[in-house]
Amino acid sequence: MKFGGTSVANIERIRNVARHVKREVDAGHEVAVVVSAMSGKTNELVGWARETSALHDAREYDAIVASGEQVTSGLLAIALQSLGIPARSWQGWQIPIQTDDAHASARITGIDGSELIRRFKDSKEVAVIAGFQGMNVESGRITTLGRGGSDTSAVAIAAAIHADRCDIYTDVDGVYTTDPRVVPKARRLDKVAFEEMLEMASQGAKVLQVRSVELGLVHNVPVFVRSSFDKPEDIDPHGTPPGTLICSEEEIVESQVVTGIAFSKDEAQISVRHIQDKPGVAASIFGPLAEGSINVDMIVQNVSDDGKFTDLTFTVPASEFVRAKDTIEKAKDKIGYTKLDTATDVAKVSVIGVGMRSHAGVAAKAFAALSERNINIRAITTSEIKFSLLIDAAYTELAVRTLHTLYGLDQA
Ligand code: ADP
Ligand code: ASP
Ligand code: MG
Repeated sequence: MKFGGTSVANIERIRNVARHVKREVDAGHEVAVVVSAMSGKTNELVGWARETSALHDAREYDAIVASGEQVTSGLLAIALQSLGIPARSWQGWQIPIQTDDAHASARITGIDGSELIRRFKDSKEVAVIAGFQGMNVESGRITTLGRGGSDTSAVAIAAAIHADRCDIYTDVDGVYTTDPRVVPKARRLDKVAFEEMLEMASQGAKVLQVRSVELGLVHNVPVFVRSSFDKPEDIDPHGTPPGTLICSEEEIVESQVVTGIAFSKDEAQISVRHIQDKPGVAASIFGPLAEGSINVDMIVQNVSDDGKFTDLTFTVPASEFVRAKDTIEKAKDKIGYTKLDTATDVAKVSVIGVGMRSHAGVAAKAFAALSERNINIRAITTSEIKFSLLIDAAYTELAVRTLHTLYGLDQA
């Protein structure tokens, strides 16, 4: 069971979480619980680190931001104990949840679940685990898994203890066709294939961290997204509560062409003008960006008319924009361009569905619908089960709603 920030936002909600856990324990299940920090806490901690120094030691950043989960794990253990349920808290380093040393975005490399399992058997003790954090064994330092990383902690723990299922309790009762806070007509999905969820999460649907979906897919852990706001006592622990199961494609009988729409305003566009159309130029642009660990997403380059000069456009996360621009400017002589055009008020809207593999013309419909709304498309990328459009950020909601209706996703 994993509970996110809003689900543990205060003591009353932590008590509510304890009652959810009690229900499962009373039903005879062995339970490990992963908790996030109280909502807003991690932002506050990140703010303090930045305020102290804009350029700070990433190892200390992790020591600071991991503290939010330390608090909630202890509080939940106490809340459980006061309901008569044996429980103890675990920090990432105590299990340990081993990670690499990429501070602030570490990847889990291994978890030994045997001690947790032993305690389930010997003392029926609920393990309350601080999400988001781990430890790099070589350096002995605390690491964190990137924002939203408690989802990943939960799926990794589930795999390590061979859990039947990983339930992600959050502030919505499942995965919707798009963010229900932006499109009230969004519909809850009963089942979503891992591959689709991977695309939705990586294209901006923050309901699950991308890496958690990857782990679910690789270790075949069924992930169930559900609400923590349902009254704990009203739920039948053996029934099927409202929620969304993330599972393998074969388990989904009726699949639609389009499953969902994701969007992200965390985008920036860089256009490199008048570069030579010859081998090696793209390498001179993307090489230095890769060396700086800057993730490039969409790339558009045209075939030149005269075989001599062309333009190249790409996008990076808005948070990397300044660094990316600086990197390209420093490499100006080597690349050999005339000017850079940039835009930070852009957004990416992505349409996702495994049905796209076998249907033609899905994207064409979107182009027509957006042009009717006068929404200009700056760049397009496609994959087997998704296409993404870069547009002006001001039109994000309009574009998402238009496409949501176009593909028949609105609820009746
Ligand atoms: P938690 O704190 O529980 O981890 P998050 O805020 O990280 O919760 O994720 C839940 C939020 O994800 C929802 O409140 C919702 O606004 C957002 N969200 C974005 N896309 C979707 C989607 N397709 N389905 C459901 N929720 C979504
Ligand atoms: N508290 C961390 C964050 O806000 C991890 C999480 O909530 O999943 O990113
Ligand atoms: Mg989250």
